[in-house]
Amino acid sequence: MTELLPPKLSMTIRHTGNKLSRAELDKLDHLLILVPKGLAATSWSQLPSHELLKKLSRRDPDGVISGRFANAAATGFSLGVISPGASVFEKLTLARQVTAAASRESTVGVLAHGFGAGDQATALDALVSAALASAARMPSLKSTPKRDRRIRSLRLFAVAELPDLKRRQAEAEGNYLARWLTTLPPNQLDSGNYCGLVEALAKREGWSYKLLGQKELEKKGAGAFLAVAQANPGRDAGIVHLKYRPKKTGGELLTLVGKGICFDTGGTNLKPHDSMLDMHEDMGGSAVALGCLLAISRLGLPRRVDCWLAISENMIGNQAYKPQDVITACNGVTIQVIHTDAEGRMALADTLALAARDKPGLMIDYATLTGSCIRGLTTRLSAIFANRDHWREPLIQIGRASGERVWPFPLDEKDFDQTLDSPIADIKQCTTDGMGDHIYAARFLRRFVPDSIPWLHIDLGASSHKGGLAHIPTQITGFGVRFTLELLDAGLPDK
Ligand SMILES: [Zn+2]
Repeated sequence: MTELLPPKLSMTIRHTGNKLSRAELDKLDHLLILVPKGLAATSWSQLPSHELLKKLSRRDPDGVISGRFANAAATGFSLGVISPGASVFEKLTLARQVTAAASRESTVGVLAHGFGAGDQATALDALVSAALASAARMPSLKSTPKRDRRIRSLRLFAVAELPDLKRRQAEAEGNYLARWLTTLPPNQLDSGNYCGLVEALAKREGWSYKLLGQKELEKKGAGAFLAVAQANPGRDAGIVHLKYRPKKTGGELLTLVGKGICFDTGGTNLKPHDSMLDMHEDMGGSAVALGCLLAISRLGLPRRVDCWLAISENMIGNQAYKPQDVITACNGVTIQVIHTDAEGRMALADTLALAARDKPGLMIDYATLTGSCIRGLTTRLSAIFANRDHWREPLIQIGRASGERVWPFPLDEKDFDQTLDSPIADIKQCTTDGMGDHIYAARFLRRFVPDSIPWLHIDLGASSHKGGLAHIPTQITGFGVRFTLELLDAGLPDK
């Protein structure tokens, strides 16, 4: 299944403290420039063709300007201006816009000019992130392949302080894997192929791989996952359990869980055309979990990490589960089925309960779970739920620092459960009106995660955003990898 994996994201990044010379400029296909707003005249004069740049910039002070220098190589340029107090998200967005003009060029220079050392590092960080994201080519199945033109070499000039390049490269690889897998068509990335692909990836990366297939899950009593999988034509759905165990490890187990619905028809409660069209993306959460594991692994982070992927289709057919079925999950909780399109929480219920048995110090799940999350937040941010109240504010800050912004919703309000009371089972799967469904989904999932386990649930509203988001140029964003790496770096207050 290695043919379904993305090609290597190869880009050489070189840096120097030296200024960009005329001879160096001639070696570049394109130069990316970021400057702070209100750049002094003496600073402008240090840029190549500064009269031209200054004139264009005056004409459009807040936009991205681009063109070609009059040097021998007619090197292209694009320049963006960073406003004072710009957020990380705004810097990444500007970097994406500046990088767009260079996305088909091979050798690209980077200049963050006129900043203090710390601000220069964040400006460089944004440009490097945007260049890496732009070089990650998505699957193309055209019978005549297009020439693969992308940034292959990045040269950073006049660098006073470097951003963490190794981290950004690892994150970019993780994000690339997530975006690539989520883009694959559903007849290629079906449950069987997905499990096979993850097995091949695990072998390549040195992770242990275990597939809990139909029979094992029956033995474990994982009725909620199996209810979703029972109309799966290949009977090849399953829960994949990966383990990353570096030589040096310390601290508690980190567990990542992802929703991997390879295609979501809605099931018996069939979706209409518009809502079904992009439902091959409903495995996005599992791809993000996998992308996080890849980034962690590439960085060689010294901690034990488990990854659990709930992989299935949600299909129609005479085998499919239906409203008013009563299902028993592996922790004994009985569920009254209300709507078969709420399959994500069913598949995650058993997966979370199984993953929780290893008592992780932190468990994070990623899922494209609810439409109400998008109605509440749009596709610019993702919703986050924590079973530790005092984590809400730090989580907002981590989101801001990463440029992948999250917003917390209540998880602790017990009165929500009254609406999920079932006359026949322990809990209803969801409500009938869908109002606040992202909160009810989180309350539902809480029944499968013991309170003793610190847990974050991310409803990935921002997994798809038209025109790209922050530094990511494609509609499928791979949102979550960068946020998670920032979270692991910053840490959360005591549980
Ligand atoms: Zn669904």
